[in-house]
Amino acid sequence: MDIRTVGIVGAGQMGNGIAHVFALAGYEVLLNDISEESLNQARSTIDRNLERQASRGKISAEEKAAALGRIRTTLRLADLGPTDLVIEAATERETVKQAIFEDLLPHLKPTTILTSNTSSISITRLASRTDRPEKFMGFHFMNPVPVMQLVELIRGIATDQPTYEAMLAVVAKLGKTAASAEDFPAFIVNRILIPMINEAVYTLYEGVGNVRSIDEALKLGANHPMGPLELADFIGLDTCLAIMNVLYDGLADTKYRPCPLLTKYVEAGWLGRKTERGFYDYRGEVPVPTR
Ligand code: NAD
Repeated sequence: MDIRTVGIVGAGQMGNGIAHVFALAGYEVLLNDISEESLNQARSTIDRNLERQASRGKISAEEKAAALGRIRTTLRLADLGPTDLVIEAATERETVKQAIFEDLLPHLKPTTILTSNTSSISITRLASRTDRPEKFMGFHFMNPVPVMQLVELIRGIATDQPTYEAMLAVVAKLGKTAASAEDFPAFIVNRILIPMINEAVYTLYEGVGNVRSIDEALKLGANHPMGPLELADFIGLDTCLAIMNVLYDGLADTKYRPCPLLTKYVEAGWLGRKTERGFYDYRGEVPVPTR
C-alpha cells in the first residue's frame, strides 16, 4: 500500500498538528472542516508552529515553505475521496464521526485506509458502520502533535495485517514511534494516565495532601515532569472526567469511579488552563493552588 496523499477531517487542535507533521514528512495533505474559520486558523497555526521550528534550527526555511505548499484546505468532504489515507480528527462525538464516514464513503476509492484519532470511542464499533472494517484503524496522536513522539495504533477486531503494517510504515516515515494497542476503553496511555490523575484528585479530596504537596511529591518523588494536578489542568478537567466515565462504563469496574471532587470542579466550569481556573488559578502572574 503506497500512501502519498492524506485527507484529514477536522482542522482543530489535533487536525492542524496532524496536517503539520504529515506535510513536513513529504505527504500531500488535504485538510477538511465544516468551518471556514477553523481552516483559516489551522493555516496560521501551522505557519506559526513551522516558523518556531525553523527559528530553532530544527527545519530549514525551504522545508517550511515546502511543507506549507503541500497543504490544501477544503470545505467539501467529497474532495478527500481520492486520497490514500483518511484521518478523522473531528469533534469527539460518535454521531458526528458516524455522519462523516457515511458522507465520505460513497466518494472513497476502495483501497483507502480509514482511521480515527478518537481518544475514547470504540474503533470496532466505528469500523462496523463502514464498508471497510478490515481497512479501519485507530490512529491516536498526542497533543501537541508536532512535539509528542508517540502515536497509538489501535486495531479493531476486523483490522487486517496489511493495513496495520502500512500504518506502522506511515508512523516510521513521520519520525514518530508507535505503541500498538488492542481496542479496549482508553487504549494504553489514557488507561494508565487518567486513573493516576483521578487518584491524585482522591488524594486531594481525602485531605492526604494539598495541591502543591501532591504535585511536588510526584515531580520529585517519581520524576514526573509535571505534577498530576498540573497535568489535569493542562489536559482539561472535563476531558479527564469524560475518559474516567468511558473507563467506568466500558470496564464496569468500580476502581474507575470518577472522584466526586473532579466532578465538582467540572460542574463549576473550572476546567483547567482553558478556563483559567482548575486545580490552579491562572488569572494572575503565577498559578495559585485553589485548594
Ligand atoms: P477541536 O474541537 O479542537 O477540533 C474539532 C474540529 O472538528 C473543529 O474545527 C470542528 O469545526 C471540526 N468538525 C466538527 N464537525 C465536523 C464535520 N462534520 N466535518 C468536518 N469537521 C468537523 O478538537 P480536537 O481537540 O482537535 O479533537 C479532535 C479529535 O482528536 C477528537 O476525536 C479527540 O478525542 C481527539 N484527540 C484529542 C486530543 C487532545 O488532547 N485534544 C488528543 C488526542 C486525540
